[in-house]
Amino acid sequence: MTKCFNELKHYDLNGHWSLVFSYFLHFKMTKKEEKKLNEKLQTRPPVVVILGHVDHGKTSLLDYIRKTKVVEKESGGITQHIGAYQAEHNGKKITFIDTPGHEAFSAMRSRGAKVADIALLVVAADDGVKPQTKEAIEHIKKAGLATIVVLNKIDKPDVLIDKVKSQLMENGLAVESYGGEIPSVNVSAKTGKGIDDLLEVILLVSEMAELKADLLKPASGVVVESYQDAHRGPTAVLLVQEGVLRDRDIVLAESTFGTIKRMENSRGGQVEEAPASRPVVAMGLNVVPFVGEKWQVVENLEEARTKSAQKSVLEQKKRAQAEVLDIGPDKKVLNIILKADVIGSLEAIRESLQSIQSEEVILRTLKAEVGDIGEADIKLAESANALIIGFRVKSSNVYNQLAEQKDVPISIFNVIYELIQKIREGMSNLLEPEIVRTVLAKLKVIAIFKPVKNGQVFGAKVLSGRVEKGLWVDVFRGEEKIGRGKILHLQHEKEEMENIAAGKNAGILFKADFQVELDDILETYREERRKRKL
Ligand code: GDP
Repeated sequence: MTKCFNELKHYDLNGHWSLVFSYFLHFKMTKKEEKKLNEKLQTRPPVVVILGHVDHGKTSLLDYIRKTKVVEKESGGITQHIGAYQAEHNGKKITFIDTPGHEAFSAMRSRGAKVADIALLVVAADDGVKPQTKEAIEHIKKAGLATIVVLNKIDKPDVLIDKVKSQLMENGLAVESYGGEIPSVNVSAKTGKGIDDLLEVILLVSEMAELKADLLKPASGVVVESYQDAHRGPTAVLLVQEGVLRDRDIVLAESTFGTIKRMENSRGGQVEEAPASRPVVAMGLNVVPFVGEKWQVVENLEEARTKSAQKSVLEQKKRAQAEVLDIGPDKKVLNIILKADVIGSLEAIRESLQSIQSEEVILRTLKAEVGDIGEADIKLAESANALIIGFRVKSSNVYNQLAEQKDVPISIFNVIYELIQKIREGMSNLLEPEIVRTVLAKLKVIAIFKPVKNGQVFGAKVLSGRVEKGLWVDVFRGEEKIGRGKILHLQHEKEEMENIAAGKNAGILFKADFQVELDDILETYREERRKRKL
């Protein structure tokens, strides 16, 4: 702790003293406890996640820091977007989770994974608190993360810093100058102004939180990104949270396992070992794991295999039970096969699909995986009468032709909303159509005459609309519908008519398999089958 206070002198604290004291109280330990812990544990870099409203500059901020502060220059390949990177400032490392957008964050959280230590809440200083800013505040509070407010776009002429701060306070985030404890930093992701200050505050908050890891423990952590690489197979970006992950380690994740065959940094350079807080691209898992899965290093492949098998039996049982429960006898089923570019997309799609609710149609995802559309997908779709839905994937001409031959529909999207609409439409097509009945004319029976050979004869008053010869009518007695019949002939004052308008009397020759009585109501109508929508 003393060390921290000494180091604080180096920072332009810019009024962060309340922060210092609050952390001091929070992390106060007895000297003995502290010493014991410090022997085993080592300081690790903070893991930072960036949240905020769309267009407020999350991507720009991540890009600016990546361009100016990433140190992996020794292996000078091209920067790959791997979902996380490590930057360095004043010789200290900071790990950034490079998947702006709340979906990825929620996916990780919904799996119970704690990924980040610090959340940056980006708010454009010319725009203020917006719906996704509020959503981000909720996320941050639920996750219990240390927060730094980043007021971005301060290079713009019409910024309203005080207004934004008071908006934040109204939404439960009190920044320092507004009597709270949450630091806020003004930056421009365009010019780079304030970015160094921001990195300093991140390091300060991190130091106050005394983030530690046990580097002697077997490595463990969380999957922050994953995809199927056409050449290298299942690829996962693993964030190390404890221990040191090494090449050739055996990793057991929640849905798969494997021996690490190669590890890379975000520039494609080979990495031999990764200590806590470091993200690495890892090859060697048997299948692509889900984003947010926890993983750990185990002793040997035997242990990995046994534990993994136990898990998958449980998973299969759960899935089978769900199917039996889901599909009732009178329900329709829309089968789909989902293919997407990365696991994060699948997770986001799955979450969005929950917005489609139907009692009558079940949506069954036969397969949801990462990768381009291939022959196996088309065969499965053909046998199960399924739609193939792709998100940011490709389908080659050969497979398109095959799909056409087999009558398998393939739809590929770049926007989740449009993909969801397509599925919604597919489910809507399975709904029974709604029958819409429009009454065209209404008549009341006012006299019954002697029947003739080919039907009944009666007189009726046209109450509304216009009655026509040759139409089918429904006959009501009181509330009850007693049947249907057909108007064979229509007369007005002994003259044969094609139709008769409201207010007039009609003589009717009627054909039905029941007897019409005095005061019965006749309705002529039109029925339309209308498509329903979900
Ligand atoms: P995101 O949706 O939060 O990731 O936002 P982006 O990073 O894509 O930024 C949205 C827009 O704001 C882009 O046109 C950026 O060029 C612009 N932008 C981002 N940061 C700044 C900034 O500091 N100053 C200015 N003037 N424009 C910015």
